[in-house]
Amino acid sequence: MASAGSSAFTIVKTMKLLLDDYDRKINYLRISITDRCNLRCRYCMPEEGVDLIEHGDLLTYEEILQVVQVFTRNGISKIRLTGGEPLVRKGVVDLIKGIAATEGVRDLSLTTNGVLLGEYAGDLVTAGLRRINISLDTLRPERFAHITRRDKFKAVWEGIEAALQHRLSPVKINVVGIKGFNDDEIQEFARLSLTYPLHIRFIEFMPMGEGNEWHGEGAITSSRIMEEVGEIGELIPIGPQANDGPAQRYYIKGGKGEIGFISPVSSHFCAQCNRLRLTPDGRIRTCLFSDEEIDLKGVVRGSGGEAKVEETLHQALRAKPEGHHIGDVRFKKCQRGMHSIGG
Ligand code: SAM
Repeated sequence: MASAGSSAFTIVKTMKLLLDDYDRKINYLRISITDRCNLRCRYCMPEEGVDLIEHGDLLTYEEILQVVQVFTRNGISKIRLTGGEPLVRKGVVDLIKGIAATEGVRDLSLTTNGVLLGEYAGDLVTAGLRRINISLDTLRPERFAHITRRDKFKAVWEGIEAALQHRLSPVKINVVGIKGFNDDEIQEFARLSLTYPLHIRFIEFMPMGEGNEWHGEGAITSSRIMEEVGEIGELIPIGPQANDGPAQRYYIKGGKGEIGFISPVSSHFCAQCNRLRLTPDGRIRTCLFSDEEIDLKGVVRGSGGEAKVEETLHQALRAKPEGHHIGDVRFKKCQRGMHSIGG
């Protein structure tokens, strides 16, 4: 077995650095594996008439794995699966197993609404998943049924418990705070971090897509939410750690979990953006908010082989914009909805 020193040297030697035109280190790929979802959150997806991607246009799992292999050889080391709802796509556990076993993948995570998590948590862990993000905007079953148009609160809560029982860590709960929807529950959510080892993360509502009922009039800034959470107890900052995302992280003394604030709108983190996104129909998005996409599916299905996939990755790096322009005149709301990009 190699000594600690020599294995560290090997890592440095083999790790490639992907830099974009603004010298940002790009090491994170978020893959949306489906645009189907078993909820219909009012601010995300319409109840009916959703224009779904044809099955033949979805990247197959083999194609996704091929992309992951090429991208990780070139410097991507963090992968997140999202959707739609990733757990509704058949065979997702095998995909996770394949990605977890891919050389170069140092961090693998999943974003889910939790509805099917009670059923899947054990298998996901066996497949190699170690951490998870669960989206939940209310702790009240009737309100949950209203916001999501589905009566599934109990299933989600059981999913959260299953994630903890199977020792996924951390288990992050993503809450989008919206005035008049759930802003009276902010403290209740924050208090969960006192009794459970959960990471509660408040995320600002973002202007996205056309197919939802809501257009941003209820957005609440992180600083407003932070003020309210601060009334429960002093928020003690957690210093930056490896693998940190854009959340500002805190805990309340004596709490088992932590509280994070993600502010893509009020204080954007474009200068630190390390991400690319892959849509279910195989298009690379270089910015969440921009509809400028680069076709990767055609490349994967074409005859250019891995060299062409690699070339497309570098093309995406060159195309990554400096920032999202929310709040200035250049900003234009993107067409593709969050349910098809994955957040
Ligand atoms: N189905 C999975 C889930 O619920 O986590 C993954 C996809 S879902 C689109 C990912 C996240 O995006 C959810 O936490 C959802 O609340 C969030 N989301 C959807 N539309 C949003 C918006 N306009 N602004 C902020 N977050 C949004």
